[in-house]
Amino acid sequence: MITGNYEVIKSVNISLVLAALRRHQELSRADLARVTGLTTGTITNIVNKLLEHGFVKEKGSVRSSSGGRKPILLELDAEGGYAVGIEIRPTGIKAILVNLLAEPLVTLEKPGAFRYAQGLELITEVVENFQQSLGPAREKLLGIGVSVPGWVDFAMGKIHDLPNLPGWENAYLKNDLAKTLSAPAFVDNDANLAAQGELWFGQGKGFGQLIYVLVDDGVGAGFVFNHQVYRGKGYSVGELGHISFGGGEDICRCGKTGCLETAASGQAIETKYQRLTGETLTAEEIKQRLLAGEEQARQVFHEAADALGRGIGALINLYGPEAIILGGRVFRQNQDFAALVKEAALKYSLPVMSRDVCIGVSQLKEDSSIFGAAGVVFQSVLQPYSLHTSS
Ligand SMILES: [Zn+2]
Repeated sequence: MITGNYEVIKSVNISLVLAALRRHQELSRADLARVTGLTTGTITNIVNKLLEHGFVKEKGSVRSSSGGRKPILLELDAEGGYAVGIEIRPTGIKAILVNLLAEPLVTLEKPGAFRYAQGLELITEVVENFQQSLGPAREKLLGIGVSVPGWVDFAMGKIHDLPNLPGWENAYLKNDLAKTLSAPAFVDNDANLAAQGELWFGQGKGFGQLIYVLVDDGVGAGFVFNHQVYRGKGYSVGELGHISFGGGEDICRCGKTGCLETAASGQAIETKYQRLTGETLTAEEIKQRLLAGEEQARQVFHEAADALGRGIGALINLYGPEAIILGGRVFRQNQDFAALVKEAALKYSLPVMSRDVCIGVSQLKEDSSIFGAAGVVFQSVLQPYSLHTSS
């Protein structure tokens, strides 16, 4: 609950207006007041600022069948601003250029495990490329968001460590990008940005409280509270994979035993399947066997779902979210696993807490984080406008 802080309230107000326009596409000022619960005066101030900067446009009024004038409708202006989203992965770098409606205009992928200096050079090259493709609209490039799989201080834009990608430790990525790029840069971890992506462009539109659960090589979570990503105060938040739930003696990459990640990540699924059958397969291949009805694959996924359900059940009990969005490669085309996780999450949470929670698989698929990287640019650049409104 938000109390007291005037600027925080204003920043949430503009988030509410933008979320309503993303969700409903077109609304009148009166609709916006109704949907957001804000006063018409506050809506007028916020809309004026958004119109002034070209982020929102009026669709014009039309006559209703009864002859009266219908109110002017407002919508986000797709060409009001652009953002670059970049995702750094151990297997390569992907970049997209999107407009304000998250329509991808250009996508680029470079496979390879890049070290920091190469990565930096590549990002600069890609952004310059995108700027050229925008032509005169390049001045509307609002910024660059970068998603990395590891620990990041968002405020400083400093990477602490990327466990599966050596050479990026202690890098001041935001500062280094500021030396070569003319637009502001933002850096955050993949789970936080996946939550941001869902909030801005995915199934999270319209939800004030949501949790994104990322199951990839590791397990992580991103939190949205009051329509904004919650980042804690330091390098990380939502380390769902490293909560101890007492299962197993496998040593986690964090050095401890009993972590959820040792039971439920893509890597854990591969290890457990290898132990059970003697075969070394990727999580993707094991998933194919699950879908083909193989018993050992079912057992491994069932155990992973049970472990994840314990973790997600605890999150539901602790935070009371409206929605839980499941994402990462393990969920891709794997509704069977998603159904098992949902069942376990309901089993391990209080019915009074979980009965209205919407639990589903991300429709942005593996692109939640990269869309979030673009979304964090829009969020960061648009929000300050609310701080300068007069009421
Ligand atoms: Zn751990």
